[in-house]
Amino acid sequence: MVKTEDILIDNWGRKINYLRIAITDRCNLRCFYCMPEEGINYLPKKELLSYEELLRLARIVAELGVNKIRLTGGEPFIRRDVMSFLSKLNQTSGIDSIHITTNGVFTHKYLNDLQGVGIKSVNLSMDTLDPVKFKQITRRDEFHNVEKTLYGLLERNIPTKVNMVVMEGQNIDDIVPMVELSKNHPVEVRFIEEMPFNGDALHHVALTWNHKRILQTIQNVYPETNSIAHDSNSTSLRYHIDGFKGNFGIIPAYSRTFCNTCNRLRITSQGTIKTCLYDDGVLDLKKSLRNGDSDQVIKNQLRTVVGKRARDGFEAEKTRKILTINESMSSIGG
Ligand code: SAM
Ligand code: SF4
Repeated sequence: MVKTEDILIDNWGRKINYLRIAITDRCNLRCFYCMPEEGINYLPKKELLSYEELLRLARIVAELGVNKIRLTGGEPFIRRDVMSFLSKLNQTSGIDSIHITTNGVFTHKYLNDLQGVGIKSVNLSMDTLDPVKFKQITRRDEFHNVEKTLYGLLERNIPTKVNMVVMEGQNIDDIVPMVELSKNHPVEVRFIEEMPFNGDALHHVALTWNHKRILQTIQNVYPETNSIAHDSNSTSLRYHIDGFKGNFGIIPAYSRTFCNTCNRLRITSQGTIKTCLYDDGVLDLKKSLRNGDSDQVIKNQLRTVVGKRARDGFEAEKTRKILTINESMSSIGG
């Protein structure tokens, strides 16, 4: 039981109970909105936090009231021995729920074991239902594997969310068919506004598809769309269509309308803590972990950065040392 005075609460009164870990920056896809096609400088492996370091971090944050962890990347299933890491992570006292975000290319191989290692839900990224468009967007011909993962998850009743980044000129025709996935399956389909983290500061994102436009497009076809409750820390505006088994959500990731209830910390693949997706790193945690700093020192450092947290994503963006966003989402984890 975490003592009340130990719980991480930021300077705006928001309780932090969720850590997102980018366990690698490597990926087997090259989604154009996330990574450039070539010329990617992956981190040398020794620069990634080791599993032992991540388990220590998990234990430390659990002692500060974090009870939810998501593994992301890059592609988590690219990293060697991820399942045995998950199994150890699952034994961390205080961590009640572990989740994973994946592109689904390799994931189907692990489905039988996922629940055994404590995974509570899977977020599967799938930007289209068309194999040809999939190859254009991800620059790899892997749709069949992602589809295999999707249906494998559903067959096993593993709680599943499908994430689709909505992009002008790419997958707009997929919005309605994607919602229709939730007609016969108890899946939550989530539409994400495109953000500028594509690893290429020259490719600017103009937000042509914001959350309102996405919703309108769906309501034009399904007027019987109703807003439904979402958990208070959710980034997603949630909806249900009468008669459908599942739901859909819209994530205003660029409009940033959800910041006032944000409960999350991120650790990048470089081992840097971010208190907001839009800051460029507020604490070099890898340095502390490798310096031999005690748990207490690390807790104090976390408390300090959480105590100086930007109010929202717009304020966080202004605090950046390098104002132009040129990181790839693959090092941040989404
Ligand atoms: N490789 C895994 C995957 O694709 O699910 C996990 C890492 S990926 C960076 C995590 C999430 O970030 C994915 O759902 C992906 O669609 C989303 N993402 C990546 N780049 C984005 C961008 N520029 N704008 C919005 N979402 C993005
Ligand atoms: Fe890889 Fe995920 Fe980025 Fe696509 S979104 S390139 S699958 S890390």
